[in-house]
Amino acid sequence: MGIFTYADLANFFPNRYIDRTQFFKINQLQTNNSEVQIIGRITSLKTVQQKRGSRLVATFADDTGSMELVWFRGAKWIKDSIKLNIPYVIFGRVNSYIGFFSMPHPEMELVKEYKKSLRTAMQPVYPSTELLGNRGISNRVMQKLIQTLYVEIKGDFQETLSDIIIEQLQLLSKSEAMFNIHFPKNQQLLTKARNRLKFEELFFIQLQLIRKKIIRKSKIKGYAFEKIGDHFNDFYNNNLPFDLTNAQKNVLKEIRKDVANAVQMNRLLQGDVGSGKTIVAVLSMLIALDNGFQAAFIAPTEILATQHYNAVNELLHDMKISVKLLTGSSKTAMRKVIHKTLENGELQILIGTHALLEDKVKFKNLGLVIIDEQHRFGVAQRAKMWMKNVLPPHVLVMTATPIPRTLAMSVYGDLDISVIDELPPGRKSIKTLHRYDKNRLGVFKFIKDEITKGRQVYVVYPLIKESEKMDYKDLMDGYESIVREFPLPKYQISIVHGKMKPADKEYEMQRFIKGETQIMVATTVIEVGVDVPNASVMIVESAERFGLSQLHQLRGRVGRGADQSYCILMSSFKLSDNAKIRINTMVKTSDGFEISEVDLKLRGPGDLMGTQQSGILNLKIADIVKDTAILQKAREIAIETLNKDNNLSLPENKNILYTYQMITKNRAIWANIS
Ligand code: ADP
Ligand code: MG
Repeated sequence: MGIFTYADLANFFPNRYIDRTQFFKINQLQTNNSEVQIIGRITSLKTVQQKRGSRLVATFADDTGSMELVWFRGAKWIKDSIKLNIPYVIFGRVNSYIGFFSMPHPEMELVKEYKKSLRTAMQPVYPSTELLGNRGISNRVMQKLIQTLYVEIKGDFQETLSDIIIEQLQLLSKSEAMFNIHFPKNQQLLTKARNRLKFEELFFIQLQLIRKKIIRKSKIKGYAFEKIGDHFNDFYNNNLPFDLTNAQKNVLKEIRKDVANAVQMNRLLQGDVGSGKTIVAVLSMLIALDNGFQAAFIAPTEILATQHYNAVNELLHDMKISVKLLTGSSKTAMRKVIHKTLENGELQILIGTHALLEDKVKFKNLGLVIIDEQHRFGVAQRAKMWMKNVLPPHVLVMTATPIPRTLAMSVYGDLDISVIDELPPGRKSIKTLHRYDKNRLGVFKFIKDEITKGRQVYVVYPLIKESEKMDYKDLMDGYESIVREFPLPKYQISIVHGKMKPADKEYEMQRFIKGETQIMVATTVIEVGVDVPNASVMIVESAERFGLSQLHQLRGRVGRGADQSYCILMSSFKLSDNAKIRINTMVKTSDGFEISEVDLKLRGPGDLMGTQQSGILNLKIADIVKDTAILQKAREIAIETLNKDNNLSLPENKNILYTYQMITKNRAIWANIS
């Protein structure tokens, strides 16, 4: 259970409490499954043989009736220790079978012991595992361990917050809170204890994040891009293919302000799929170039990097700017040219994949790194870009996975965040439909009609590591049935999946992009970033197997042109509750933030962000989904505290400083890299 020390034990909190002030009589038992406490005697014991092993059954009676107690495990030990016809307090869940009650594996205590032991009205129930239970570490044992600990330390805990905060928020002291979380005197004190501990937990996370930000802003020097020069102005005035949306303009202003200072920019740009992040990236890179710096633009996949490269080249084609693409499949000769021109500064913009992170890739003066679809990159990889320079380059991280506010605050509390919350004008909303597999013929008919109108269609299959073989089979079966339904030469079909060579993938992608094929059958490799405005239908096969953010990303592949677009979620008839919520959410809304909130609720934060590495979300008691109000308060107070005393050196903050140092003692250098 992760308990190694007294501190771990003290911070091992119950996950619920039961009211054990009340006793039931056997004739008061209700039909099902509630937890009850009864006083009675065991009148007889027998062992019943079953197909698999045996079970021990006791008859338990009080003055109103009788019931059975049942053990499937540990029968021998229990049989030897049980005393007949002596009063016991039993506690557990009751089952009923045709009006007769039984209780499997009750907690039992002799009444005379029960009366002696120290207990409060609300009994803590600690998290446990089956293995612990089997080894005899029952909840009773956990309670005893913690009681013993309390006696040992006399219930005295070091205060972690300042008197000012405790007073201002009317919090319990640390010792009171710790006592009441384990042995609540009543419901009200329990609530206060929980709130105090949640606040404390979130407060110290916020304190770390905000301090990090302050340190970054004051200590981590960066290059100042002082001017807006010819590259930017020329492009902005003569080559911009459309008017920027207001949201794009605002974000650009924020970025310009950041990079103008000799402090490293560390900005997260959130913008839903299709909101136009690429142009913001391009304009930002031009600012770097205007100031004599190089820029790098990194994408998670080769397809996407290539597409960015093409897009950037097209946008900048009238200008004398050198742009190159570097990916895993770049030829040696090209690599040599890139390495050389990058080092002598001739090459101004380098676009590519992870290949950019290799040590051989050395920039003359890298001023700006743009990372697209950030959730695919680990912290360590981002750190590598940081190490490529004397000073850290400015960093702009772009993501199309909207992050709920609460989560952004807890995980990215140290980053500056920009949001593009407006789509370019003229976009039609995408119609999202849910269809069962048995409606497939209707769906095929619909695809034919759309193709007749000149549109293109994606058909996407899930691909999950654990069931990779099956998934490829599904993909190939699906592909074959589509080929049958849409025969050559009238229809041309592309297929792209992870087992293909990059060059073949690229070839197939290009055929689709150029409009030579009408249908693209693919696994989720197309999830990120692919831009084919003429594609107007997205069919997601086995949609129930996709996560919400993936579905949202996939849907974002269509609706990029002027035509009405559709997203059709295909599923089997039987759906889990969770899958139903996901599919219904997709049908109901296209707001990325709303979708991400639902996603957060369904999946929990760690899973959503893949941030286990940061450890920040290993919360012991607070819940970032439910405790938003406390989180907000914690952030507010953390900011206030640091504004007043940014080194926590005032005497009044002594407790906070001590705790802060304990928490941060062993943190690695990653702390500075967002
Ligand atoms: P994403 O944010 O998903 O990366 P892109 O940058 O690929 O979005 O932009 C999506 C599409 O919208 C592109 O075809 C792009 O040319 C177009 N676009 C971007 N900004 C605007 C705008 N302000 N007006 C019109 N079209 C725009
Ligand atoms: Mg994009």
